[in-house]
Amino acid sequence: MPVSIDIELPINKKAKFPASCVVCAADHPDSKIVLTDSAAGVLSSWFFHSNLWSAKVTVEAPACKHCASSYRWLRYFYILVLLLSIAAGIFLANWCVPPGWSRLLKKISTFAIVLPCLIPYVIWVIKNPLPFHIHADEKKVSYQFRNPDYAKGFAILNNVLKEEDRDDFAAH
Ligand SMILES: [Zn+2]
Repeated sequence: MPVSIDIELPINKKAKFPASCVVCAADHPDSKIVLTDSAAGVLSSWFFHSNLWSAKVTVEAPACKHCASSYRWLRYFYILVLLLSIAAGIFLANWCVPPGWSRLLKKISTFAIVLPCLIPYVIWVIKNPLPFHIHADEKKVSYQFRNPDYAKGFAILNNVLKEEDRDDFAAH
């Protein structure tokens, strides 16, 4: 079962990538995948509902031209499946929440119905992770790889893998 392998680096550290495609591992890729995530501070999200004060993290990972293009479409597809799951939940909530309920109760019950509708999506994403993804928080960036060999190369390049851990990682 392919699950992604997460490697964390401090947010201010520029990641080094192996000189191969992050999707298919081909050598000397001719393009790149650019991903941006913002490390929204809890306070700025809470008070301003914005990423105004948060650090924006942009990462460029080497990729073949056709892998970068198919990756883009794959991301759109994942977003589409997520939106369809949310829409299905809202449709279900509209269908089974009695019209006489108060607005607050309607909101709470819609939320309670939509959340379980996202479980199949979450399981599907865990079982079929994107080849590469990032997630930033205030202190670190998590680099998520589907290919364990690529993840290992990345970890070694960025000095997050100690010599004695290398065999364990290979068995991951
Ligand atoms: Zn490729």
